Amino acid sequence: MEEIREIASKFERISAHSHIKGLGLDENLKAKDIADGLVGQKKAREAAGVIVRLIKEGKMAGRGILIAGPPGTGKTAIAVAISKELGKDIPFVQVSASEFYSAEMKKTEALIQTMRKAIGVRIKERRVVLEGEVVGLDYNMVPNPYNPTQKIPESATLTLATKSEKRTFSVSGRLALQFMYQGIEVGDVIMIDKETGRVVKLGRSEKASKKYDIGGEEVVEVPSGSVEKEKEFTYVVTLHDLDEANARRRSIFSLFSGESREIDNEIREAVDEQVKRWVEEGRAELVPGVLFIDETHLMDIELFSFMNRAMESEMAPIIILASNRGFAKIRGTDVVAPHGIPLDLLDRLLIITTEPYNEKEIEAIIRIRASEMGVELSDDALRKLTELGVKFSLRYAVQLLAPANEFAKLRNSGKIGVEDVERAAELFVDVSTSSSYLKKWEEKMLTS
Ligand code: ATP
Repeated sequence: MEEIREIASKFERISAHSHIKGLGLDENLKAKDIADGLVGQKKAREAAGVIVRLIKEGKMAGRGILIAGPPGTGKTAIAVAISKELGKDIPFVQVSASEFYSAEMKKTEALIQTMRKAIGVRIKERRVVLEGEVVGLDYNMVPNPYNPTQKIPESATLTLATKSEKRTFSVSGRLALQFMYQGIEVGDVIMIDKETGRVVKLGRSEKASKKYDIGGEEVVEVPSGSVEKEKEFTYVVTLHDLDEANARRRSIFSLFSGESREIDNEIREAVDEQVKRWVEEGRAELVPGVLFIDETHLMDIELFSFMNRAMESEMAPIIILASNRGFAKIRGTDVVAPHGIPLDLLDRLLIITTEPYNEKEIEAIIRIRASEMGVELSDDALRKLTELGVKFSLRYAVQLLAPANEFAKLRNSGKIGVEDVERAAELFVDVSTSSSYLKKWEEKMLTS
């Protein structure tokens, strides 16, 4: 159980898109102007809506999606929306094709690991737990045998109460140590997995929070019923998590190596077998997620053919490629092809295009991002940011929100004013300005 990690951390990388909740379509798959956090880009959103239906009906097997459009036209945003439409705990993995090339592992290994990070396994389990408010906790402290200047708990006495029952347990030193590390005290509502001894702090009871606390901790209700009960848990882990856990179990040496190591195919096959067995027994469900690969033209012919084959497997994620190139050489060959993608793969792709945003759309997106970040904008500030978005890029305008907000705070204002945006824009430049600045320097160095 300890090895089961939540998928949540995988979502961190897309926090720039946290305002996106779905594709914002009506029941006829028509895009509303602004909905689910998405603005404009209607054709692409409607196409994405059809794709979501095809995926749900199982008709996208062996096929992929290509989103083609200029930089900063919401390709990532649409891919995120597709994953949101597919379900709440659907894994979403975003990589740039350049990340497949590293000194640590073969590029095909990096690709297969990334693909397996995008396939979830929803595991259902019934477990016996002890649950209640801590109403008594006494440690029996003894000197640490390895360091006599320290004291550690040899055991503890724990009393848990629900609304209708109170039970006292004697707990081992190992468990008592967990209580100490987690800072568990009287008034906390906790849950202990009876079999593994894993302790989870659910929050503070309402009574205790009123009596002792200065706030900040989540207040929860004291559970009802008996202290000991059977509960059903659902976790989503990825195939890659299971591969890693299995690899670790098999080799003690892996304890000393970092996370990015190659995994034997034999281990992956064993994991696949195990997952299939769980699915057959009704204990787990496969949840194919979304793998979004940006800058597809950086993939080479070997990666493309590897991916082509992997897409046919029954355990494949939904692959969304993004490209901002027209015609390009397929890396590793002299062949020029649309988007630098081999024709046999292109044949399997449904293609969506995205278009540059107009001023009104840029304004609407900035407004949504500001409210997602919990910052207020004056009308002037919004106008200025929109202007910068039109002149430079949407991404640049959105990125100025955070520094501008810091300047507003320095003025003791809860609202970003136009002067804050100007100050931020003076200090931080957009990509085209920074690169042309350096270019000018290079030229100066060459001529002098
Ligand atoms: P691309 O992948 O095409 O480069 P992107 O999706 O990364 O584009 P950015 O230009 O980086 O888009 O977008 C800046 C911000 O605007 C991000 O927070 C993104 O979520 C948001 N955004 C982009 N398009 C839309 C849209 N149509 N509706 C709402 N928010 C959007």
